[in-house]
Amino acid sequence: AWTVRFEHVGFHYDPARPILRDVSFEIPAGKTVAVVGPSGAGKSTLARLLYRFYDVQQGRITIAGQDIRAVTQASVRQAIGIVPQDTVLFNDTVEYNIAYGRTGASRAEVEEAARAARIHDFIASTPKGYQTMVGERGLKLSGGEKQRVAIARTLLKDPPILIFDEATSALDSANERAIQAELRSAAQNKTTLVIAHRLSTVVDAHEILVMEGGRIVERGTHPELLALG
Ligand code: ADP
Ligand code: ADP
Repeated sequence: AWTVRFEHVGFHYDPARPILRDVSFEIPAGKTVAVVGPSGAGKSTLARLLYRFYDVQQGRITIAGQDIRAVTQASVRQAIGIVPQDTVLFNDTVEYNIAYGRTGASRAEVEEAARAARIHDFIASTPKGYQTMVGERGLKLSGGEKQRVAIARTLLKDPPILIFDEATSALDSANERAIQAELRSAAQNKTTLVIAHRLSTVVDAHEILVMEGGRIVERGTHPELLALG
């Protein structure tokens, strides 16, 4: 089982300025933990540390009980799929963008991921189907469609651990709600770290952590935190 644990994690980019201080929490295997808090609190830094973009300076992060510094960066990343806030897609076809990172992905696998991310019908209805260009040439995709391509790319990888780093905050509210529902269904039975601005978007998380100034200042379920005010 892919339990994720942060144990007394401390981190700084500049030694004069601590960013995370004594951060401890657990995401039980298959559960979703959400981190909310103001901009600059250190939420994205948590995601970068889990992805081994940087290594912690204090404490440790474990996946399935193993310190992530004890395994290669590549194998940590293999276990994790990230849907970021602003997706950068290649100026290439939808198919290429979904299959990216999984060389040898078959058309059937790409279609299945597209179906799971509910972009299949959209793609199939366009004149060139999966050959539709994402970027400047050919048919352009809307922000919501691009985000669905990014979700499909992550789902195709089928990682045991997911990170949604403000995955819908760049979208308009109609797209935001639709894509939030897709992310929730993708997160079923996956060990998931959700980073969000607002408490209202993370109602069904197993636990919600409120971060401020690099510390967890409150934690609880959605009803518990609402009761705190
Ligand atoms: P959040 O996701 O909560 O907005 P971040 O984790 O992005 O917070 O940032 C926390 C703090 O770390 C901020 O003050 C930010 O300016 C600083 N920071 C983020 N990335 C870097 C970096 N690469 N180098 C130096 N400081 C950084
Ligand atoms: P906000 O706009 O409030 O800041 P964000 O757009 O930053 O919210 O991102 C939170 C993301 O996490 C959203 O895309 C949302 O769909 C997703 N999400 C929220 N709750 C869950 C959950 N329980 N399981 C999986 N994903 C979730």
